[in-house]
Order: sequence, then C-alpha cells, then structure tokens
Amino acid sequence: PIEPWYIGGPVIKGFGRGSKVLGIPTANISPEGFSVVLSEHTSGVYFGWAGLSDRGIYKMVMSIGWNPYFDNTEKTIEPWLLHEFNEDFYGEELRLVIVGYIRPEANFPSLESLIARIHKDREIAEKSLDLPAYARYKDARYLKSAS
Ligand code: ADP
Ligand code: MG
Repeated sequence: PIEPWYIGGPVIKGFGRGSKVLGIPTANISPEGFSVVLSEHTSGVYFGWAGLSDRGIYKMVMSIGWNPYFDNTEKTIEPWLLHEFNEDFYGEELRLVIVGYIRPEANFPSLESLIARIHKDREIAEKSLDLPAYARYKDARYLKSAS
C-alpha cells in the first residue's frame, strides 16, 4: 500500500485525444503547484476517490503521465470518474485522494489492447476501493466541498 496523497484544482481542457469518444473521459487538472508530490510518484495508473464541486464523491482510476507537449517537467493528471454524468463539468473544482497504485505506463500494440487494459484497471480500482483499507478515504475531509 502507498501513503495516500492529495491533489486538486479546477477541471481543465486536456488535449482532446478523444478519450470521451472511447468511453473513457478523463477530467484533467493542472499539475501546477503539485510538482513536488508528482515527482515523488512514478508515472502510471493509480486509483482513489474524487470529490467533484458540490456534486459528490466518486471512485476514480487515474493516469499520471509525462506531458509530451511541454518540457517533460510537467506530468498530466487524468482521472476517470467511475460514474455516469449527464454533462461535462469543465471549470468545476475537483479534489483527489490517491490511495493505490496499479501499474506503470506501458505501450500497447493496438488501441483495442489499450482500451481493454484500461477497463481491467477500472475493475481493479472498483474492487480495491470497496476494501476497508481504501474505502475509508471516501470520508477524507479534503474531498468535501467547501460550500
Ligand atoms: P479533455 O481532453 O478535454 O480532457 P476528455 O475526452 O478526456 O477531454 O473528456 C473529459 C471531460 O469529460 C471532463 O473534463 C468532464 O468535463 C467530462 N466528463 C464527463 N463524464 C466524465 C467522467 N465520468 N470522468 C471524467 N470526466 C468526465
Ligand atoms: Mg481528459
């Protein structure tokens, strides 16, 4: 198990690589202000809990990766909230507690194999977050809306 870590900020536009089209939308937040905590964590796939504005608290599975568009000192933070939303929520405040690590970043021979792996990551996240050791972070004060 890892020491939980906490990051948050408004949901920003990502690179629009079509993750939503693939059924895997990721609510990006800016890595600005989190360079220390990000440098302490390897790139890869993590899971945890997400508090979204005053909407609620949801399970999430998240990719932390190098941003190829900048100078490789910034990582992208891309959580997929494991909940069906009826609309986008760009600009809304997102708070994350990251409680577990699944796997390193990897290259996949095809888009299909990448998508299949992400769905497996989702299953791992869903099941792990039901375990008491991870479930208890759903109540973390950090996740709660300020309003
Ligand atoms: P972008 O490249 O701008 O991040 P995405 O294709 O990754 O675009 O879609 C992400 C956006 O979709 C989020 O910013 C959010 O507004 C919306 N969205 C809707 N449902 C979800 C969800 N379950 N998890 C994450 N984002 C979601
Ligand atoms: Mg995204």
